[in-house]
Amino acid sequence: MDKVKVFQPHYYKKFKCTGSECKNNCCRHNWQIRIDKGTYDKYLSLDDDMFSQLSENMKVMSEDPFLALILSDSDGNCKMLDDRGWCRIQLKHGHEFLCRTCRLYPRKTCLVDNETERFLELSCEVAAQLILFDQNIMKFEEAELLPIVDGRVVYNHQLEAQEYISSLNSVSIFWRLRITAIAIMQSRQYKVRLRMLILCLFIQQIDTLLAEGRESEITLVADEFMKQLDTGHFDTLRNQMPDGTAPEPGVILDVLGEMAKGNNIKLNNCIKQAMEGFGLQPDSLEVSEDFAENYKKYYNQYFSDKEYIFENYIVHNILSEGFPFNYKHETSVMKNYAELLAKFELIEFLFVGVSRRRMKFDKRTLIECIAFFTRSYDHNLKDFLIRD
Ligand code: SF4
Repeated sequence: MDKVKVFQPHYYKKFKCTGSECKNNCCRHNWQIRIDKGTYDKYLSLDDDMFSQLSENMKVMSEDPFLALILSDSDGNCKMLDDRGWCRIQLKHGHEFLCRTCRLYPRKTCLVDNETERFLELSCEVAAQLILFDQNIMKFEEAELLPIVDGRVVYNHQLEAQEYISSLNSVSIFWRLRITAIAIMQSRQYKVRLRMLILCLFIQQIDTLLAEGRESEITLVADEFMKQLDTGHFDTLRNQMPDGTAPEPGVILDVLGEMAKGNNIKLNNCIKQAMEGFGLQPDSLEVSEDFAENYKKYYNQYFSDKEYIFENYIVHNILSEGFPFNYKHETSVMKNYAELLAKFELIEFLFVGVSRRRMKFDKRTLIECIAFFTRSYDHNLKDFLIRD
């Protein structure tokens, strides 16, 4: 069986699921697990009581395109868990009978211009710990991947640079964009908010070049930004930008209000606590006059020497989401930047608010805020792609 070369962050190989010891087990998160056709056919071939258990707890949503789901109970637990919280399918028929989602999570494999990349998902708290809490600059390595499911590689996403950049050099231009975006976000001489501003300036220029069909100039602009980072060109911005800046609360409260309408109990609890932490009323966009001042104070209380956490969060997003493009095939790079900024601000708001409410700023709260938020915001039903 041929091995496939894969590009991965250095933390990837350290991941180990903690299973029943996991405090926020992914089998208890109200996810309706998508069953792929191959697994569904395996289930149909069963002639024991597992078949009837599956029939009771699984729902076929459509035959074309095929979609079947394993359902959760009213507490959010996967209906195939037994009384001890163990998966009945795995217990009886082994790992091979799990659907692709359950076999692979929290691993995510992407096909980017015929190259394979893999990451871990921030929605798993063990993965989040590995991704976010390394103080060293995030590094990447090449490894080998054995095809995982039924002798084949399963891809969560696929991206081709040509879809966004018509130049014959689309692949190398895309890599210049990624490398420059990461270099900006890893420029530790600046606060994360200033790095986000520099990234915004870069992406604005790229947006204009793409819109005007001047793709050949992208490399020059990327070179210029790299040079400016080295020569301290952005130092003047640092002097103008105060330490720790509060986000615009209206937009954040709007988005969180929408998210709170979902049935994610843990996230809803976080949102409620964050609002209480800032003394905000549900269903009201009014914030107190000292909101911005308090926000900065609380943010600095925890992050003044830990900004590497958000740096890692954003670098992880840049690579694993195909930034400045994305796997949702959104062609506007400015829109993708705005989404990245919004995610950063929403998580920051949740963490600062919840910590304020609990009167304690700690790693556990941050991991929970990120994992609960990501489980709601980033995870939709995924279409897996298979490649021989
Ligand atoms: S959330 Fe992560 S560590 Fe916890 S059970 Fe799921 S895969 Fe394992």
